[in-house]
Amino acid sequence: MIPYGKQDIRQSDIDAVVDVLTSDFLTQGPKVPGFESAVAQKVGAKHALAVNSATSALHIACLALDLGEGDWLWTTPVTFVASANCGLYCGAKVDFVDIDPKTYNIGVDSLREKLEKAAKENCLPKALVVVHLCGQPCEMLAIKALADKYDVKVIEDASHAIGGKYQGEYIGNGRYSDITVFSFHPVKIITTAEGGMALTNCDELANKMNVLRSHGIIRDPERMTHEPDGPWYYQQVHLGFNYRMTELQAALGLSQLERLDEYVAKRHTLAKRYDELLKDLPVTCPEQHADTYSGLHLYVIRLKLNELAVSHKAVFESLRAQDIGVNLHYIPVHTQPYYKKFGFKADDFPEAMSYYREAISLPMYPNLTVSEQSEVVSALKAALSL
Ligand SMILES: *Cc1c(COP(=O)(O)O)cnc(C)c1O
Repeated sequence: MIPYGKQDIRQSDIDAVVDVLTSDFLTQGPKVPGFESAVAQKVGAKHALAVNSATSALHIACLALDLGEGDWLWTTPVTFVASANCGLYCGAKVDFVDIDPKTYNIGVDSLREKLEKAAKENCLPKALVVVHLCGQPCEMLAIKALADKYDVKVIEDASHAIGGKYQGEYIGNGRYSDITVFSFHPVKIITTAEGGMALTNCDELANKMNVLRSHGIIRDPERMTHEPDGPWYYQQVHLGFNYRMTELQAALGLSQLERLDEYVAKRHTLAKRYDELLKDLPVTCPEQHADTYSGLHLYVIRLKLNELAVSHKAVFESLRAQDIGVNLHYIPVHTQPYYKKFGFKADDFPEAMSYYREAISLPMYPNLTVSEQSEVVSALKAALSL
């Protein structure tokens, strides 16, 4: 099976993790802060907080922005469920903004219309989670202008996009948002097995997320409500969690980070080759917005079903039967059974549904070989009955 995504683990990664295993610290040692400052420096952020998943990072990001009961969080329906669930964790309500039919990211026109309407009805969202789908950055300039106009906080779910750039600058630098989140799950661009990170340029948000990821506990006497009882003393000041990253994970992340640009460049080479190999097939290849350099976590094609005699599902099944591990990113979140109870109808977001009926993620990872890629394209041609 050629999977849709796969990590690249080298001897240097293994050595880095083994070194930690034989060191004094398996958790709360020097590797986590080392990884945090390396990522912060790489992407140009002031603060980076490593956690045990992007899902956890999204949760503490929402809490740090004071999202709570009575608030709304908006996001795109074409994302992993975690981009929306973080709002529900905080007791907020979740709504969606339909996608742009070309980039599949949150649609700026739909966002503008929905904000105008919400402003009139007095139900503006407190937070907006934009997702850089497939690694392609959203139109952050326009999004930031709208967010400023309506006083909405912005979280970039950049789970797909570390190493990607917007207007020539790394995603994660926080120029257009309050907090950016990365995922280090093995299918993503670099991995720590499980793991995630929240980045911000705001000292107060960083402090709050730092406390929330470790039980809501502080150890700095200056920030305590009274003099410490003694050297053992700590105070719990928030209801936090254990969302910490381990030293083993951080060592792996540090080692992987050295190859970030190489990985993204390799993905671009593969994407160009797919573009070339697929250009005469009845499929739409990913369009890249001029302002962006994608992280290219995914390479999603859309079937031109009106030019095909086979169904989307049949193409999918045929590819899987030919051992090509294609996938679909994503099932629109508002159609999930858990979200149906909030009253969403499938047709509420027609562009998302039309994408869902046509999309297929082809294998895309740095070690995908040219011959494997050709195999994928041959299998696709067979699946399309061409
Ligand atoms: C993978 C992913 C997440 C969740 O990441 P974890 O690190 O697995 O928690 C969230 N949002 C998007 C868009 C993702 O692709």
